[in-house]
Amino acid sequence: MHELGLMTGILKQVEQAAREAGAVRITCIRLVAGEMTEVLPEALEFALEALGAGTLAEGATLVVEQPRPRSRCTQCGYEFEHDRFHWMCPVCQALATELLAGRELYIKDMEIER
Ligand SMILES: [Zn+2]
Repeated sequence: MHELGLMTGILKQVEQAAREAGAVRITCIRLVAGEMTEVLPEALEFALEALGAGTLAEGATLVVEQPRPRSRCTQCGYEFEHDRFHWMCPVCQALATELLAGRELYIKDMEIER
């Protein structure tokens, strides 16, 4: 499961940052995972429960923001939102589009207790 590996890396980063900030507990972790990453929030929550036990992030709330994919048509310049499977330009029907958003995957911020 892709999300377990992902959460392992996330936990490493947030724990390190939390320690440096003198935290005793991480209460909330906020992630941004665009729809194009195909990351499942429920699977991430499960991974956090499984991997977070015994760490500073035990019991932390996970919030996953999922920006919708957005593309720009390289033929006519039109910008539009779409789902994971449809990126044809609605104006000129070109398939030559450039993905502007939807593939981002990063830790936005977190809340800690000192
Ligand atoms: Zn177009």
